[in-house]
Parts: sequence; C-alpha cells; structure tokens
Amino acid sequence: MKALVKTQKGVGFIEIQDVEEPRPKPDEVLIEIKACGICGTDIHVKYDEFPYWPPVILGHEFSGRIVEVGAEVKRWKVGDRVVGEPHTLACGECYLCRTGNIQICPAKRSPGWGMNGAMARYLAYPGKLLHAIPDTMSFEEAAVVEPAANAVHDVIERAQVQAGDFVVVLGPGPIGLLAAMAARASGAREVAIIGRSMDEELRFTKARELGFQCFVNVDNENSKEKILALTGGIGADLVVECTGAPQAIVTTVDLIRKKGKICSIGLTGNKPVPFPWDQAAFKVCDVFFCLSTGYTCWDRTITLIASGKIQAGKLVTHRFPLDQWETAFDHVESLKALKVILNP
Ligand SMILES: [Zn+2]
Ligand SMILES: [Zn+2]
Repeated sequence: MKALVKTQKGVGFIEIQDVEEPRPKPDEVLIEIKACGICGTDIHVKYDEFPYWPPVILGHEFSGRIVEVGAEVKRWKVGDRVVGEPHTLACGECYLCRTGNIQICPAKRSPGWGMNGAMARYLAYPGKLLHAIPDTMSFEEAAVVEPAANAVHDVIERAQVQAGDFVVVLGPGPIGLLAAMAARASGAREVAIIGRSMDEELRFTKARELGFQCFVNVDNENSKEKILALTGGIGADLVVECTGAPQAIVTTVDLIRKKGKICSIGLTGNKPVPFPWDQAAFKVCDVFFCLSTGYTCWDRTITLIASGKIQAGKLVTHRFPLDQWETAFDHVESLKALKVILNP
C-alpha cells in the first residue's frame, strides 16, 4: 500500500513509499482509513522538532471503517465506523496508567510518530482505543474528533466552564476555534477571540461563520482595555492560551479576573516566557497545563459534534489525495488552510 513515511531523522525526509499492508494482532482490528487530518505534530515531525521513531508512517487524526477483526476483539465487527484515541503503547501498569491517565504514560508512543500512523490505506489498531461514530457523521468530520477531543478535555473537563462565563481564547487556529466552540457549548455568555492581522482573512472569517462576534486584533487594539471594557472592569473568567507565543502568554494575566483560570494549550517550542509571576499571585488565579485527551472526553466530543454544538467539520477548508501531501502540508504551514484532510 502507499503510505506517507518519515524515512529518517532530520529536516524533511518525507516521501510516499510502497509499504507492506499491516496485519492486526489478536487484540487489534484492521481499519481502512477514510480520512486523516494534518496536525501541527505532523509538521513538527517534518521539521525534526518532536520526538519520533523513523521510518514511521505519519498521521494520527484518522477515521475509517473496520475491515478485519483480531481473534481476541469482542467489541467491534467488520463494517464499524470508528475513530481512535492516540494512546498506543501506554504500559497499563504505571502510576499514570493506573490512575486513568494513559495519555501521559511515559511509555506511550502515538501513531504518526511513535508507531505507524494513518496516512496510508490501512492501519492496524488496538480495539480498546476505538470509539464508534454515528452514521450521520462524515468520515471527514470524524477526522476532526481527535483535535476536538483535546479542546473538550481542556475547556470542558479541566477548565470546567460554567454557564454565563466570559471566556477569552488566544489564537484562532483549529484548536483555538474548537476551544471557543467547546466553551460556547458549555454555556459561556461570550467567547472573545484574540488574534493578529494575519488571522483576519481566513481564521476570523471562519470564526464569524461559526457565529462568534467578539474579536480583538492585537496588532491594532489593546486586548486588556477591550476585555476589561467588555467585562465591566472585572476581567475574563477563563483565558485559553492556544498560541504558544511568549508575547501572547504574558498577556493572559492582564485579561483574567481575580480568581479566574488560565488554561494553557499552546507550546512555545522551548522559548523562555517572562511570565508575570507576582501579577498572577495578586490575581490569585489558577494556571494549568493541558496535553492530549482523556478517555471520558471522546464519546462526549462525538456527541457534541453529532448534535451540532461543536461544528468540527466546518474547520476543514481543504482536502487532498495522499500523493498531493506536499501541497497539503504547504497549505497548513503557510496558514492558507485551517484543517486539511488527506484521503489515503
Ligand atoms: Zn493532532
Ligand atoms: Zn503507563
């Protein structure tokens, strides 16, 4: 089968290769991949900025149909439509696994970087990590379940947005827009989206299409003044940081109310951040970090997408066949696209 492979360490070294079709182990199923989203992680692997074990097939944001079932798999049958948690190789025995946090098990190695991923016709996958998608959900929309599950985990399960909250999202990329939709689905009274001039054309336009109405372009406006004005001088109940940009991260404390919450999702790429520690102390705010998804957020996310509360499919702006992967990656890197789907 044709697969998109990172062949060795270094910048680049990605090509379409003809590889052997995978065979499912007894606890695995064989999935025919119908759609696979390109994630920031895939771009980081391309540029050698994320751990990975080459040669490895890229891609972890997948949806597909089961075509074969391993002997020990009870829960699935041929024809089932599924998505999968990317928590492969988690040990199941360490403190984190035993406390329900397999997503941060030190042994975890996800498809697309730690083991072969979904930018290929077939993927062999542990049955225990799969979730069913409803017949009404397209495979393309289902490929956005994984990033949406991140936003749901972070904003609904961890930050616990309350009905009536004023929420600020920094960074209107795919995760930022999913976080904004998750906050709205939880009953936020307003979700203000903060970006820059480069976000106006594609990202703010998409956010407006999704029904958001409150924007701050920090290249022309002062975000602190605007958020304080919108909240009667109090500040936001929750600030969700999705940019990973140090100059944006330092502003989160300006935007939050006293005893508010700052939810950090974006990574800086190891840049130092001059975080205003004492200012945060005097705000008595909660600051917490998020990585990956927990078990409970997957079915919740699928329900929220299926009911239209999170319009994940609307984030897909481009789709390409697998052999046009270079154009597809370029669209993501140059911000010409929001979510790009490869059809293997
Ligand atoms: Zn991803
Ligand atoms: Zn473990």
